Amino acid sequence: QQAQASRAPIQRLADASILIRSAEALETAQKLDTIVLDKTGTITTGKPALTDVHATGTVAENELLMLVAGAEADSEHPIASAVIAGARGRGITVPAPAAFDSVTGKGVQATVAGRSVLVGTATLLAENGIDTAELEQISTELAAAGKTPVLAAVDSYPAGVIAVADTVKGDSVSAIAALRELGLHVVMISGDNARTAAAIAGQVGIDRVLAEVLPEHKAGEVRRLQAEGRQVGMVGDGINDAPALAQADVGLAIGTGTDVAIEAADITLISGSLAGVVTAIRLSRATMRNIR
Ligand code: ADP
Ligand code: MG
Repeated sequence: QQAQASRAPIQRLADASILIRSAEALETAQKLDTIVLDKTGTITTGKPALTDVHATGTVAENELLMLVAGAEADSEHPIASAVIAGARGRGITVPAPAAFDSVTGKGVQATVAGRSVLVGTATLLAENGIDTAELEQISTELAAAGKTPVLAAVDSYPAGVIAVADTVKGDSVSAIAALRELGLHVVMISGDNARTAAAIAGQVGIDRVLAEVLPEHKAGEVRRLQAEGRQVGMVGDGINDAPALAQADVGLAIGTGTDVAIEAADITLISGSLAGVVTAIRLSRATMRNIR
């Protein structure tokens, strides 16, 4: 009778294509009361596209895009691929950078076509002594639309802002609604700027947002929620998310994400859909009921 009762959930597990590392992870999943969702690549597809180019006047729009794309040529960030593809789509030949430095969670610095190019967040530019007032004004509007503004300085002048936008995965909205119906507190975490993160959170029905969180601080945010007495499930896809996945009571990796995230997690959602989180928690609750 017992064996019969527990067979059904395990079958469903296979159908839903969820990989669970241990019986303990399955057991802990029913105790979760909080789910932290990474934004880029977890709630969204993580494949942004170039949407806007605003030059302030120091360089023309196409030159700005050429310089920014050149600066991003050696970056592995999804923003870089979006900018380079967008530039090529506009018929721009992307130059190779002469010198290149990546600043994790902030942006890139490079020498392109003999010019010094700094690309990334307002914080990165401000830290390098650039006056960001005008660029931040342009950024605000882009971010309110859920786009990620990428600020650029050329030879230390605030040269413009380009924007990339990511798409919310088809079933993120319904999965988040289902998590809330299960009584879970749902939180979004992102390295992206606060306005962009809030706009995306609004689109998917999340009311608590932790934004502008540097990669090395994501695990600390999970720890902070745990210190509030919460049982935290963390869902992420990136190298950035690995320490937070390990810190969480249950780490759930997006199967289409990086291997580092998958290795750090207890559960892998093979299809990459957030519906898998709902399935895992329902399954855990059903399984524990059957065992007791
Ligand atoms: P996320 O958590 O959204 O995946 P990251 O921690 O990788 O973000 O980066 C945080 C922010 O830093 C990005 O939203 C972007 O504004 C900026 N950034 C990081 N890398 C780059 C890059 N190569 N080019 C431009 N901006 C970048
Ligand atoms: Mg991510």
